[in-house]
Amino acid sequence: MACALSDGFGRRITYLRLSVTDRCDLRCVYCMAEDTSFVPRRELLRIEELDRLASAFVARGVTKIRITGGEPLVRKGVMTLFAGLSRHLEGGALGELTLTTNGTLLATHAEALAAAGVRRVNVSLDTLDAERYRAITRGGSLAAVMDGLRAAKAAGLRVKLNAVALKGIVEEEIHDLIAFAHGNGMDLTLIETMPLGDVGADRTEQYLPLTTLRRIIESRWALADTSERTGGPARYARIAETGGRIGFITPMSHSFCESCNRVRVSATGTLYTCLGQEDRADLRAAIRGSEADDALHAAIDAAIRAKPRGHDFRIERGRPTLSRPMSALGG
Ligand code: SAM
Ligand code: SF4
Repeated sequence: MACALSDGFGRRITYLRLSVTDRCDLRCVYCMAEDTSFVPRRELLRIEELDRLASAFVARGVTKIRITGGEPLVRKGVMTLFAGLSRHLEGGALGELTLTTNGTLLATHAEALAAAGVRRVNVSLDTLDAERYRAITRGGSLAAVMDGLRAAKAAGLRVKLNAVALKGIVEEEIHDLIAFAHGNGMDLTLIETMPLGDVGADRTEQYLPLTTLRRIIESRWALADTSERTGGPARYARIAETGGRIGFITPMSHSFCESCNRVRVSATGTLYTCLGQEDRADLRAAIRGSEADDALHAAIDAAIRAKPRGHDFRIERGRPTLSRPMSALGG
């Protein structure tokens, strides 16, 4: 194997989040503006190019790949990508192939995902109320997500629910979300709203620190912190009454950069070495410029050596920290 990937601070890079599209069938209020414009299709990496790129990272010691978006399941050919990448699971180089999805198309794809070796999926769900779901997602169907969750379970996929801690909403939803997730054998992870992309709304209105939310949770449930990790930035606690786990992702109130093991690639083949910084490298040019992977590996090496120490998110009135929306990189 070519040498493993380490950055200038000695952090080993073993986790790739690969976005396969910036498009989405929903328009969540914290993620996209209603009239978002998308990258022209010709600029997206083709499915074979996505496979080649992901495989180059696997050859360099990446053991976990998360497919994301936009909504990954709206990308034409995405199941061919999953089926192709499953060879790295079978060969043992890749430990985990997974995805983050809004769940609306999961009912159609759950079985094929399981057949490709996917074992766990993250499904984003901020509310159990159909009207509120429609409002948050600007038109989405909660019933479709519920069908997707049932299909995932039937296919044997483990599901983790992700909920963004939206001020004014999550305080009302949290107890039902815990009961629903844990009652159906799913972990629940809460995420602080990050100031990424111009969503046409004031972020200060959306942001609730998870320290505050945790106090609300503890008014009803008994939490015990655990040291369990799942390879991502979440810190977990176990809820005594349900036996289930609750995760906290706190990019705003508590940075987790010192243990960062991940990089992200956009659907256009741009490598971002930090979710909260502009540092990037164009891997599409390296892929399209040569049939051999030497230039691709050289570009990956140079970018990872320069990976920033960490991010510096601030919620400021009216202004995103970065103009790049979450849908460009998928979280
Ligand atoms: N469409 C898929 C989904 O919603 O799961 C995958 C992409 S989405 C960008 C990945 C995750 O980012 C979702 O859990 C979503 O809730 C979260 N997200 C989007 N915008 C965010 C923001 N500004 N702050 C925090 N999380 C955000
Ligand atoms: Fe789409 Fe996911 Fe962004 Fe919602 S959070 S708009 S589902 S990409």
